[in-house]
Amino acid sequence: MSLPHAWLDDVCPSPYADQLALGFRLLRFVRPLELEYRSHRLDDSFELKRIALSVALLLWLAFAALDFSLVQGPQVAWMLGVRLAVFVFLLICAGLIVQRRYVHLLQPLSLSCILALGVGAALVVGIAHRSDPAYPYEGLLLVSMAAYFLVGLRLSEALFCSALILLVYVGAEWLADLPASRLTNNVLFLLFGNLIGAVGCYLLEFKSREHFLISRLMRSLAEHDSLTGLHNRRSFNRQFERVLRQAQRAQQSLALLLCDIDHFKAYNDRYGHQAGDKVLQRVGTLLQDAARRPLDMAVRLGGEEFAVLLYDIGESEARQRAEALCANLAKLDIRHERSATASMLTMSIGVACLQPGGGGELAQLYERADRALYEAKAFGRNQVVA
Ligand code: GH3
Ligand code: MG
Ligand code: MG
Repeated sequence: MSLPHAWLDDVCPSPYADQLALGFRLLRFVRPLELEYRSHRLDDSFELKRIALSVALLLWLAFAALDFSLVQGPQVAWMLGVRLAVFVFLLICAGLIVQRRYVHLLQPLSLSCILALGVGAALVVGIAHRSDPAYPYEGLLLVSMAAYFLVGLRLSEALFCSALILLVYVGAEWLADLPASRLTNNVLFLLFGNLIGAVGCYLLEFKSREHFLISRLMRSLAEHDSLTGLHNRRSFNRQFERVLRQAQRAQQSLALLLCDIDHFKAYNDRYGHQAGDKVLQRVGTLLQDAARRPLDMAVRLGGEEFAVLLYDIGESEARQRAEALCANLAKLDIRHERSATASMLTMSIGVACLQPGGGGELAQLYERADRALYEAKAFGRNQVVA
Protein backbone atom coordinates (compact mmCIF):
# COMPACT_ATOMS: atom_id res chain seq x y z
CA MET A 1 0.00 0.00 0.00
CA SER A 2 1.36 3.42 -0.84
CA LEU A 3 1.21 6.54 1.29
CA PRO A 4 1.14 9.50 -1.11
CA HIS A 5 1.66 12.23 1.48
CA ALA A 6 3.81 14.68 -0.47
CA TRP A 7 2.66 17.54 1.81
CA LEU A 8 4.64 15.99 4.68
CA ASP A 9 7.73 17.84 3.43
CA ASP A 10 6.06 21.14 4.31
CA VAL A 11 5.17 20.48 7.95
CA CYS A 12 7.28 21.05 11.06
CA PRO A 13 9.30 18.08 12.32
CA SER A 14 6.93 15.76 14.14
CA PRO A 15 7.15 12.07 15.11
CA TYR A 16 3.78 11.50 13.40
CA ALA A 17 4.96 13.04 10.13
CA ASP A 18 8.23 11.07 10.36
CA GLN A 19 6.34 7.81 10.82
CA LEU A 20 4.00 8.61 7.92
CA ALA A 21 7.01 9.26 5.71
CA LEU A 22 8.78 6.12 6.94
CA GLY A 23 5.72 3.91 6.35
CA PHE A 24 4.44 1.03 8.48
CA ARG A 25 3.76 -1.85 6.17
CA LEU A 26 4.65 -4.34 8.88
CA LEU A 27 2.01 -2.70 11.10
CA ARG A 28 4.53 -1.37 13.55
CA PHE A 29 5.58 2.15 14.58
CA VAL A 30 8.78 3.22 16.29
CA ARG A 31 8.71 2.38 19.98
CA PRO A 32 7.14 5.39 21.78
CA LEU A 33 4.59 5.91 19.01
CA GLU A 34 3.67 2.23 19.03
CA LEU A 35 2.83 2.44 22.73
CA GLU A 36 0.79 5.59 22.15
CA TYR A 37 -1.11 3.91 19.31
CA ARG A 38 -1.87 0.83 21.38
CA SER A 39 -3.17 2.87 24.28
CA HIS A 40 -5.31 4.94 21.87
CA ARG A 41 -6.67 1.79 20.28
CA LEU A 42 -7.50 0.30 23.65
CA ASP A 43 -9.54 3.36 24.49
CA ASP A 44 -11.10 3.41 21.06
CA SER A 45 -12.18 -0.24 21.07
CA PHE A 46 -13.62 -0.38 24.59
CA GLU A 47 -17.24 -0.05 23.46
CA LEU A 48 -16.63 -2.57 20.70
CA LYS A 49 -15.26 -5.08 23.20
CA ARG A 50 -18.31 -4.70 25.42
CA ILE A 51 -20.73 -5.24 22.55
CA ALA A 52 -18.72 -8.17 21.17
CA LEU A 53 -18.67 -9.83 24.56
CA SER A 54 -22.44 -9.53 24.99
CA VAL A 55 -23.01 -10.96 21.50
CA ALA A 56 -20.56 -13.81 22.21
CA LEU A 57 -22.33 -14.74 25.45
CA LEU A 58 -25.72 -14.82 23.72
CA LEU A 59 -24.48 -16.83 20.73
CA TRP A 60 -22.68 -19.27 22.99
CA LEU A 61 -25.95 -19.94 24.87
CA ALA A 62 -27.86 -20.29 21.59
CA PHE A 63 -25.33 -22.86 20.30
CA ALA A 64 -25.60 -24.78 23.61
CA ALA A 65 -29.37 -25.04 23.06
CA LEU A 66 -28.68 -26.23 19.49
CA ASP A 67 -26.38 -28.99 20.79
CA PHE A 68 -29.32 -30.44 22.67
CA SER A 69 -31.38 -30.79 19.53
CA LEU A 70 -28.53 -31.91 17.20
CA VAL A 71 -26.61 -34.49 19.25
CA GLN A 72 -27.83 -37.50 21.21
CA GLY A 73 -26.00 -39.82 23.56
CA PRO A 74 -23.36 -39.45 26.26
CA GLN A 75 -21.44 -36.83 24.22
CA VAL A 76 -24.07 -34.17 25.02
CA ALA A 77 -23.04 -34.04 28.69
CA TRP A 78 -19.38 -33.48 27.73
CA MET A 79 -20.29 -30.82 25.19
CA LEU A 80 -22.50 -28.98 27.67
CA GLY A 81 -19.72 -29.27 30.26
CA VAL A 82 -17.31 -27.48 27.89
CA ARG A 83 -19.98 -24.90 27.00
CA LEU A 84 -20.64 -24.21 30.70
CA ALA A 85 -16.92 -23.84 31.53
CA VAL A 86 -16.43 -21.35 28.66
CA PHE A 87 -19.60 -19.48 29.62
CA VAL A 88 -18.46 -19.04 33.24
CA PHE A 89 -15.01 -17.92 32.04
CA LEU A 90 -16.60 -15.36 29.69
CA LEU A 91 -18.81 -14.07 32.49
CA ILE A 92 -15.78 -13.50 34.75
CA CYS A 93 -13.89 -11.74 31.93
CA ALA A 94 -16.98 -9.65 31.12
CA GLY A 95 -17.17 -8.57 34.77
CA LEU A 96 -13.53 -7.44 34.71
CA ILE A 97 -13.77 -5.74 31.31
CA VAL A 98 -16.95 -3.81 32.06
CA GLN A 99 -15.57 -2.42 35.34
CA ARG A 100 -12.87 -0.64 33.33
CA ARG A 101 -10.72 -0.60 36.46
CA TYR A 102 -8.18 -3.05 35.05
CA VAL A 103 -7.31 -1.17 31.88
CA HIS A 104 -3.92 -2.91 31.61
CA LEU A 105 -5.76 -6.26 31.51
CA LEU A 106 -8.21 -5.23 28.80
CA GLN A 107 -6.20 -6.61 25.89
CA PRO A 108 -5.11 -9.89 27.55
CA LEU A 109 -8.73 -10.39 28.65
CA SER A 110 -10.05 -9.91 25.10
CA LEU A 111 -7.44 -12.35 23.81
CA SER A 112 -8.38 -14.88 26.50
CA CYS A 113 -12.09 -14.59 25.66
CA ILE A 114 -11.48 -15.27 21.98
CA LEU A 115 -9.16 -18.18 22.82
CA ALA A 116 -11.69 -19.64 25.27
CA LEU A 117 -14.44 -19.39 22.64
CA GLY A 118 -12.26 -20.88 19.89
CA VAL A 119 -10.72 -23.67 21.93
CA GLY A 120 -14.13 -24.43 23.52
CA ALA A 121 -15.79 -24.57 20.09
CA ALA A 122 -13.00 -26.83 18.71
CA LEU A 123 -13.41 -29.23 21.64
CA VAL A 124 -17.21 -29.26 21.26
CA VAL A 125 -16.91 -30.07 17.55
CA GLY A 126 -14.33 -32.81 18.27
CA ILE A 127 -16.58 -34.39 20.91
CA ALA A 128 -19.67 -34.19 18.68
CA HIS A 129 -17.83 -35.80 15.75
CA ARG A 130 -17.28 -38.97 17.82
CA SER A 131 -20.95 -39.82 17.37
CA ASP A 132 -22.08 -37.51 14.57
CA PRO A 133 -19.52 -36.61 11.84
CA ALA A 134 -22.12 -34.27 10.28
CA TYR A 135 -22.04 -31.86 13.26
CA PRO A 136 -21.18 -28.39 11.84
CA TYR A 137 -17.61 -27.23 12.39
CA GLU A 138 -18.01 -23.90 10.57
CA GLY A 139 -18.71 -22.09 13.85
CA LEU A 140 -14.94 -22.07 14.35
CA LEU A 141 -14.67 -19.66 11.47
CA LEU A 142 -17.12 -17.32 13.20
CA VAL A 143 -14.80 -17.18 16.20
CA SER A 144 -11.81 -16.38 13.98
CA MET A 145 -13.80 -13.65 12.19
CA ALA A 146 -14.65 -12.16 15.60
CA ALA A 147 -10.91 -12.19 16.38
CA TYR A 148 -10.10 -10.36 13.13
CA PHE A 149 -12.90 -7.82 13.12
CA LEU A 150 -14.90 -7.56 16.31
CA VAL A 151 -12.78 -7.33 19.43
CA GLY A 152 -10.23 -4.71 18.48
CA LEU A 153 -7.30 -7.16 18.34
CA ARG A 154 -4.29 -6.28 16.26
CA LEU A 155 -3.56 -8.54 13.27
CA SER A 156 -0.70 -10.31 15.07
CA GLU A 157 -2.95 -11.11 18.03
CA ALA A 158 -5.83 -12.26 15.84
CA LEU A 159 -3.48 -14.49 13.81
CA PHE A 160 -2.08 -16.01 16.99
CA CYS A 161 -5.59 -16.81 18.29
CA SER A 162 -6.76 -18.26 14.98
CA ALA A 163 -3.67 -20.44 14.58
CA LEU A 164 -4.06 -21.83 18.10
CA ILE A 165 -7.76 -22.53 17.56
CA LEU A 166 -6.98 -24.36 14.32
CA LEU A 167 -4.33 -26.48 16.08
CA VAL A 168 -6.69 -27.44 18.88
CA TYR A 169 -9.34 -28.27 16.29
CA VAL A 170 -6.98 -30.60 14.39
CA GLY A 171 -6.02 -32.29 17.69
CA ALA A 172 -9.67 -32.73 18.71
CA GLU A 173 -10.58 -34.21 15.30
CA TRP A 174 -7.58 -36.51 15.40
CA LEU A 175 -8.76 -37.84 18.77
CA ALA A 176 -12.26 -38.22 17.34
CA ASP A 177 -10.88 -40.31 14.44
CA LEU A 178 -12.43 -38.11 11.76
CA PRO A 179 -11.53 -39.56 8.31
CA ALA A 180 -8.41 -37.86 6.92
CA SER A 181 -10.16 -36.69 3.73
CA ARG A 182 -12.86 -34.88 5.72
CA LEU A 183 -10.33 -33.40 8.10
CA THR A 184 -8.25 -32.09 5.17
CA ASN A 185 -11.36 -30.66 3.60
CA ASN A 186 -12.42 -28.91 6.82
CA VAL A 187 -8.95 -27.56 7.58
CA LEU A 188 -8.61 -26.18 4.04
CA PHE A 189 -11.96 -24.42 4.35
CA LEU A 190 -10.92 -22.92 7.70
CA LEU A 191 -7.53 -21.87 6.30
CA PHE A 192 -9.08 -20.05 3.34
CA GLY A 193 -11.60 -18.37 5.62
CA ASN A 194 -8.74 -17.25 7.85
CA LEU A 195 -6.83 -15.93 4.86
CA ILE A 196 -9.75 -13.68 3.94
CA GLY A 197 -10.07 -12.57 7.57
CA ALA A 198 -6.35 -11.85 7.85
CA VAL A 199 -6.24 -9.75 4.66
CA GLY A 200 -9.28 -7.74 5.78
CA CYS A 201 -7.78 -7.29 9.24
CA TYR A 202 -4.47 -6.11 7.74
CA LEU A 203 -6.22 -3.48 5.63
CA LEU A 204 -8.30 -2.30 8.59
CA GLU A 205 -5.30 -2.05 10.91
CA PHE A 206 -3.26 -0.25 8.26
CA LYS A 207 -6.04 2.33 7.81
CA SER A 208 -6.52 2.63 11.57
CA ARG A 209 -2.80 3.34 12.01
CA GLU A 210 -2.78 5.84 9.16
CA HIS A 211 -5.83 7.60 10.60
CA PHE A 212 -4.17 7.70 14.03
CA LEU A 213 -1.01 9.33 12.63
CA ILE A 214 -2.86 11.85 10.48
CA SER A 215 -5.29 12.90 13.22
CA ARG A 216 -2.46 13.29 15.78
CA LEU A 217 -0.43 15.24 13.24
CA MET A 218 -3.41 17.53 12.50
CA ARG A 219 -3.94 18.13 16.19
CA SER A 220 -0.28 18.90 16.67
CA LEU A 221 -0.31 21.31 13.69
CA ALA A 222 -3.37 23.06 15.09
CA GLU A 223 -1.67 23.52 18.47
CA HIS A 224 1.80 24.60 17.35
CA ASP A 225 3.26 27.58 15.59
CA SER A 226 4.57 26.55 12.20
CA LEU A 227 7.67 28.78 12.23
CA THR A 228 9.11 27.97 15.66
CA GLY A 229 7.34 24.71 16.56
CA LEU A 230 6.34 26.22 19.93
CA HIS A 231 2.78 26.01 21.27
CA ASN A 232 0.50 28.67 19.82
CA ARG A 233 -1.77 30.99 21.78
CA ARG A 234 -4.84 28.76 21.41
CA SER A 235 -3.01 25.74 22.77
CA PHE A 236 -1.60 27.90 25.59
CA ASN A 237 -5.06 29.13 26.62
CA ARG A 238 -6.36 25.58 26.68
CA GLN A 239 -3.42 23.99 28.48
CA PHE A 240 -3.05 26.78 31.00
CA GLU A 241 -6.33 25.74 32.65
CA ARG A 242 -5.04 22.18 33.02
CA VAL A 243 -1.70 23.30 34.47
CA LEU A 244 -3.43 25.78 36.80
CA ARG A 245 -5.77 23.08 38.15
CA GLN A 246 -2.81 20.76 38.67
CA ALA A 247 -0.89 23.53 40.50
CA GLN A 248 -3.88 24.27 42.75
CA ARG A 249 -4.34 20.58 43.56
CA ALA A 250 -0.65 20.06 44.33
CA GLN A 251 -0.25 23.44 46.10
CA GLN A 252 2.47 24.53 43.68
CA SER A 253 3.33 27.94 42.33
CA LEU A 254 3.36 29.02 38.67
CA ALA A 255 5.33 31.70 36.86
CA LEU A 256 4.59 33.38 33.56
CA LEU A 257 7.44 35.01 31.62
CA LEU A 258 6.31 37.33 28.81
CA CYS A 259 9.18 37.90 26.40
CA ASP A 260 9.34 40.48 23.61
CA ILE A 261 12.28 40.95 21.26
CA ASP A 262 13.61 44.51 21.31
CA HIS A 263 13.57 46.62 18.14
CA PHE A 264 12.58 43.68 16.01
CA LYS A 265 10.91 45.82 13.38
CA ALA A 266 14.24 47.57 12.90
CA TYR A 267 15.95 44.18 12.64
CA ASN A 268 13.58 43.16 9.84
CA ASP A 269 14.12 46.48 8.10
CA ARG A 270 17.90 46.11 8.24
CA TYR A 271 18.41 42.38 7.62
CA GLY A 272 15.23 41.35 5.81
CA HIS A 273 12.17 39.33 6.77
CA GLN A 274 13.82 35.96 6.16
CA ALA A 275 16.68 36.73 8.51
CA GLY A 276 14.00 37.87 10.98
CA ASP A 277 12.29 34.49 10.67
CA LYS A 278 15.58 32.70 11.39
CA VAL A 279 16.01 34.82 14.52
CA LEU A 280 12.49 33.94 15.68
CA GLN A 281 13.36 30.26 15.27
CA ARG A 282 16.55 30.63 17.29
CA VAL A 283 14.72 32.47 20.05
CA GLY A 284 12.05 29.72 19.93
CA THR A 285 14.70 27.04 20.50
CA LEU A 286 16.12 29.05 23.40
CA LEU A 287 12.71 29.31 25.07
CA GLN A 288 11.91 25.66 24.39
CA ASP A 289 15.13 24.67 26.16
CA ALA A 290 14.00 26.70 29.16
CA ALA A 291 10.70 24.83 29.38
CA ARG A 292 11.84 21.22 29.45
CA ARG A 293 9.81 19.82 32.36
CA PRO A 294 6.48 18.10 31.55
CA LEU A 295 4.20 20.90 32.83
CA ASP A 296 6.36 23.78 31.56
CA MET A 297 5.37 25.37 28.30
CA ALA A 298 7.00 27.65 25.73
CA VAL A 299 4.58 29.60 23.54
CA ARG A 300 4.75 31.94 20.57
CA LEU A 301 1.93 34.35 21.32
CA GLY A 302 2.31 36.06 17.94
CA GLY A 303 4.86 38.15 16.02
CA GLU A 304 8.00 38.55 18.18
CA GLU A 305 6.16 37.96 21.45
CA PHE A 306 6.65 34.78 23.41
CA ALA A 307 5.64 33.33 26.77
CA VAL A 308 7.18 30.73 29.04
CA LEU A 309 4.99 29.10 31.66
CA LEU A 310 6.99 27.50 34.48
CA TYR A 311 5.51 25.06 36.96
CA ASP A 312 6.52 24.76 40.63
CA ILE A 313 8.84 27.75 40.76
CA GLY A 314 9.16 30.63 43.25
CA GLU A 315 9.34 34.31 42.37
CA SER A 316 13.09 34.77 42.79
CA GLU A 317 13.91 31.62 40.82
CA ALA A 318 11.53 32.68 38.04
CA ARG A 319 13.35 36.01 37.87
CA GLN A 320 16.70 34.21 37.68
CA ARG A 321 15.43 31.99 34.88
CA ALA A 322 14.27 35.08 32.96
CA GLU A 323 17.65 36.74 33.42
CA ALA A 324 19.34 33.55 32.24
CA LEU A 325 17.18 33.70 29.10
CA CYS A 326 18.32 37.27 28.37
CA ALA A 327 21.93 36.22 28.99
CA ASN A 328 21.60 33.20 26.69
CA LEU A 329 20.19 35.38 23.93
CA ALA A 330 23.13 37.78 24.38
CA LYS A 331 25.49 34.77 24.11
CA LEU A 332 24.03 33.96 20.68
CA ASP A 333 25.47 37.35 19.73
CA ILE A 334 23.06 38.06 16.87
CA ARG A 335 24.23 41.35 15.36
CA HIS A 336 21.66 44.17 15.36
CA GLU A 337 23.15 47.41 14.06
CA ARG A 338 19.85 49.29 14.21
CA SER A 339 19.13 48.51 17.86
CA ALA A 340 19.11 51.58 20.09
CA THR A 341 19.77 49.32 23.10
CA ALA A 342 22.83 47.20 22.25
CA SER A 343 24.94 46.06 19.31
CA MET A 344 23.27 42.62 19.36
CA LEU A 345 19.70 41.37 19.54
CA THR A 346 18.13 41.61 23.02
CA MET A 347 14.78 41.00 24.60
CA SER A 348 12.72 42.30 27.50
CA ILE A 349 10.88 40.02 29.91
CA GLY A 350 7.99 40.65 32.31
CA VAL A 351 7.54 38.09 35.08
CA ALA A 352 4.42 37.35 37.16
CA CYS A 353 3.82 34.53 39.65
CA LEU A 354 0.85 32.71 41.12
CA GLN A 355 1.40 31.51 44.67
CA PRO A 356 -0.07 28.22 45.92
CA GLY A 357 -3.46 28.66 47.53
CA GLY A 358 -4.13 32.00 45.82
CA GLY A 359 -6.93 31.73 43.29
CA GLY A 360 -5.83 32.57 39.79
CA GLU A 361 -6.90 33.20 36.28
CA LEU A 362 -4.90 33.44 33.13
CA ALA A 363 -6.22 36.95 32.47
CA GLN A 364 -4.91 38.31 35.79
CA LEU A 365 -1.54 36.58 35.54
CA TYR A 366 -1.17 37.73 31.96
CA GLU A 367 -2.08 41.30 32.83
CA ARG A 368 0.54 41.46 35.59
CA ALA A 369 3.24 39.96 33.39
CA ASP A 370 2.27 42.36 30.60
CA ARG A 371 2.56 45.35 32.95
CA ALA A 372 5.99 44.13 34.04
CA LEU A 373 7.02 43.77 30.39
CA TYR A 374 5.79 47.30 29.66
CA GLU A 375 7.99 48.57 32.49
CA ALA A 376 10.98 46.59 31.22
CA LYS A 377 10.52 48.31 27.85
CA ALA A 378 10.05 51.72 29.47
CA PHE A 379 13.15 51.34 31.67
CA GLY A 380 15.35 50.86 28.60
CA ARG A 381 14.72 47.29 27.32
CA ASN A 382 17.11 44.29 27.53
CA GLN A 383 16.03 43.58 31.11
CA VAL A 384 13.72 41.63 33.37
CA VAL A 385 11.01 43.18 35.53
CA ALA A 386 9.10 41.03 38.03
P1 GH3 B 1 9.95 46.99 20.79
O1 GH3 B 1 11.37 47.02 21.16
O2 GH3 B 1 9.17 48.12 21.37
O3 GH3 B 1 9.31 45.70 21.07
O4 GH3 B 1 9.88 47.22 19.22
P2 GH3 B 1 9.65 46.17 18.09
O5 GH3 B 1 10.09 46.73 16.80
O6 GH3 B 1 10.23 44.86 18.46
O7 GH3 B 1 8.08 45.95 18.16
P3 GH3 B 1 6.95 46.25 17.10
O8 GH3 B 1 5.70 45.71 17.72
O9 GH3 B 1 6.94 47.68 16.68
O10 GH3 B 1 7.32 45.38 15.84
C1 GH3 B 1 7.24 44.00 15.80
C2 GH3 B 1 7.76 43.55 14.48
O11 GH3 B 1 7.78 42.11 14.40
C3 GH3 B 1 6.93 43.99 13.32
C4 GH3 B 1 6.89 42.83 12.37
O12 GH3 B 1 7.48 43.17 11.15
C5 GH3 B 1 7.74 41.79 13.04
N1 GH3 B 1 7.17 40.44 12.87
C6 GH3 B 1 5.99 39.97 13.36
N2 GH3 B 1 5.83 38.69 12.99
C7 GH3 B 1 6.91 38.33 12.25
C8 GH3 B 1 7.31 37.12 11.58
O13 GH3 B 1 6.63 36.10 11.61
N3 GH3 B 1 8.49 37.14 10.93
C9 GH3 B 1 9.28 38.25 10.89
N4 GH3 B 1 10.42 38.19 10.24
N5 GH3 B 1 8.91 39.40 11.48
C10 GH3 B 1 7.76 39.45 12.16
MG1 MG C 1 9.38 43.87 20.21
MG1 MG D 1 5.86 43.30 20.42
